Amino acid sequence: MQKRYIPAVLLFALLFALLSLACPRPTPRAYAQEEQKRVYLTFDDGPSTVVTNRILDTLKEEGIRATFFVVSDRARTRKDTLRRIAREGHTIGVHSATHDYASIYASEQTFWQDVTECADFIRTTTGVVPCLYRFPGGGAHEKYAAMLKEHGYRIIFWNAVNGDEEIRDASAEDLLARAAETARGKRNVVLLMHDSAFHRQTAEALPAIIAHFRAEGYVFCAF
Ligand SMILES: [Zn+2]
Repeated sequence: MQKRYIPAVLLFALLFALLSLACPRPTPRAYAQEEQKRVYLTFDDGPSTVVTNRILDTLKEEGIRATFFVVSDRARTRKDTLRRIAREGHTIGVHSATHDYASIYASEQTFWQDVTECADFIRTTTGVVPCLYRFPGGGAHEKYAAMLKEHGYRIIFWNAVNGDEEIRDASAEDLLARAAETARGKRNVVLLMHDSAFHRQTAEALPAIIAHFRAEGYVFCAF
C-alpha cells in the first residue's frame, strides 16, 4: 500500500511547486510599492531668476526631483536657469511660449504655434525633448487635448494646490496649510505651485511643504 502512495505524494509536491512558480506571492517590497503614497511637486510659469533658483537649491538639499512647466518667453533671458533645471535631473514640460490666453486659444493654429515655439526653445536650450504639457489657465480644452495626444504629449493636470495663485498676499504658512488641506486623503498628489518672479513665498514655503509630505509618508516623484 505504501508504495502506491509515494508517486501520488511526489505528483502532489510537483504540482504544488509548479503552482508556486506560476503564482508567486507578492514580496513585501512589491506590496510596499503598490501601497506607496506619492507626491509630484509641479511648478508653473517660470523660470524666474531668484524664485526658481531658490526652489532648485531646496530640491537639491532635499534630494528631490520635481517637474517644471515653463514659459519660453520668460526663459529667453534665463537660459542658465532653464539649463540648471535640466542638469539637476528635474523634468521640463511645455506650458506656453507667451502665457497670453487670448492669443494661445484663438485658434487651433495659434495654439499649436504656441506649443511648438515653447517646445523648440526647451529642446534647443537644454537638449531635452519635452513630452509633457500643462494648459495655461487650466481647463480641459478637449479639441486641443486631442492635438497634443496625437503628437505624443501627456497632459498633466493637478489635484492639489499650495494656493499661491488664489490667496492674496499669502504667507508661507498659508501656502503650507492650503497644500496640506487640498492633498488630504489623496494617495497620489499632483501639487500645483508657481515659480514666476512674484512667487517668493512659494520658495519660502517649500521646505515646510516637503517636510509635511515626508512626515505623512509620501515619496517625491517627477513625471
Ligand atoms: Zn500658468
